[in-house]
Amino acid sequence: MNFSKILVLGAGQMGNGIAHVFSQTGYNVVLADISEKSLENGYNTISKNLNRILAKGKISQEEVDATLSRIDTTTDISTASDADLVIEAVTENKDLKFLIFKDLDAKINPNAILATNTSTISITEIAATTKRPSKVIGMHFMNPVPMMKLVEIIKGLTTSDEVYNKIIETTKALGKTPVTANDYPGFIANRILLPFINEAIYALMENCGSVDGIDEVAKLGFAHPMGPLALADLIGLDTCLSILNVLHNDLGDSKYRACPLLKKLVAAGHYGRKNGKGFYNYSGETPVPINFFA
Ligand code: NAD
Repeated sequence: MNFSKILVLGAGQMGNGIAHVFSQTGYNVVLADISEKSLENGYNTISKNLNRILAKGKISQEEVDATLSRIDTTTDISTASDADLVIEAVTENKDLKFLIFKDLDAKINPNAILATNTSTISITEIAATTKRPSKVIGMHFMNPVPMMKLVEIIKGLTTSDEVYNKIIETTKALGKTPVTANDYPGFIANRILLPFINEAIYALMENCGSVDGIDEVAKLGFAHPMGPLALADLIGLDTCLSILNVLHNDLGDSKYRACPLLKKLVAAGHYGRKNGKGFYNYSGETPVPINFFA
């Protein structure tokens, strides 16, 4: 084991998945969030997902119990000041991440590596908010974390080789495949994915097709496992908009401008799967596509 205690900050869909895979690999994990409700939901999601794997016969009851027993939850990161690796997975917002990294730098063991799961924000800029820029790195997990093999590893301008090598090794120990991306907005994954999703939303707004029509084209025509609108709902429409805003601002190219329909949905609080409504309605057994032109 490369680390004795992992602090995962943010218990949303990414944070709970990250806590799950570290704990299942045998690490002691503290899952922290500003919201008690998110912590409760996050822990319950981990338990539900482990029990789903148990039902498939892929792990034992002992492994489920041991994995859950290695996870503590807290709303106060000071209680995990002795952590030696932090993975930050809070809401995708530049100012918030800057504040969080300042706070982590002040409260967490000065030798700890501070990793961020940001989708697009500059690792170099985040590192510059701390007094340990050589120990800050991007560790970009994919959603859903327990299932997806890829982790993008992003070395900021100041990240040391020692930290980079340790994180590559740790990623492999989790059973994941690291791919190195350079520190430019959107790294590799979101530089490619978000313009595709955004274009699908423009196609919907311009009534080229319905929600399910657009998704079916991607599934049946491009052999994608899910359509871009369903994927946007899975990622979170608030997160999609934040990523596009960073791509647009930091690269300065109008091709990244967020579709007005996406902005409207986020303004209405329709964030996708995580709060029940986006391009689909998730209140029933199966997602129902929304008819935007009724
Ligand atoms: P989410 O909305 O599901 O969860 C965010 C969590 O952060 C919430 O539980 C919230 O309570 C918590 N939070 C907000 N402010 C906080 C604070 N000050 N201190 C502690 N916790 C705080 O978001 P998510 O989808 O899990 O995304 C988290 C990060 O992962 C973002 O940076 C996002 O870009 C990135 N990411 C998301 C995906 C995806 O598909 N959703 C994929 C890869 C990376």
